[in-house]
Amino acid sequence: MQVMHEDIDKILFTEDDLRARVSEMGHQITADHQGESLLVVSVLRGAAIFMADLVRNITLPLEMDYMAISSYGNGVKSSGIVRILKDLSSSVEGRHVLIAEDILDSGLTLSYLMRNLESRNPASIEVATLLRKKTRAQADIDCRYVGFECPDEFIVGYGLDYAERYRNLPYIGVLKKSVYC
Ligand code: 5GP
Ligand code: MG
Ligand code: MG
Repeated sequence: MQVMHEDIDKILFTEDDLRARVSEMGHQITADHQGESLLVVSVLRGAAIFMADLVRNITLPLEMDYMAISSYGNGVKSSGIVRILKDLSSSVEGRHVLIAEDILDSGLTLSYLMRNLESRNPASIEVATLLRKKTRAQADIDCRYVGFECPDEFIVGYGLDYAERYRNLPYIGVLKKSVYC
């Protein structure tokens, strides 16, 4: 049994769940992209841990690059305002780009990011998101790889933060409301 942090209400995905699913995703991506090389782009900071585990399950030539964008600040609701804090180091032109995202909520962040990267003429652009929230309003985004569907609650762990905390939890859980209300 995993010991639960006192600020966590319940665990949604254990370390074992995450390891198994991320491994499946990596193998699927490998099978779908035989003969190609990938530029795997992670969106800092939430997706960094997912990306690190994902790429170790992809047996294709690939490069890793990072982008930092902000949409939430320290709060728990998407503002819809996206700012690029750090851009990619590599050129996207002619590359097969795979965006590794932590969680798709309103989809505003990802739809902004995809439009931005599309304008740089990649050969292809696909999304692997670890989590997709079941929300009422979600931008229509074609996510080729989805790890888990998750409830519309505020979750942390495995890279996901609240006010920069809890990223280092090895599992994903629902944060107690008393922590942010
Ligand atoms: P969206 O623009 O899709 O509403 O929000 C996307 C970003 O908001 C995610 O990449 C993530 O950084 C953050 N986010 C959305 N939902 C949650 C959540 O439940 N917990 C945490 N920690 N971050 C979230
Ligand atoms: Mg993110
Ligand atoms: Mg955050």
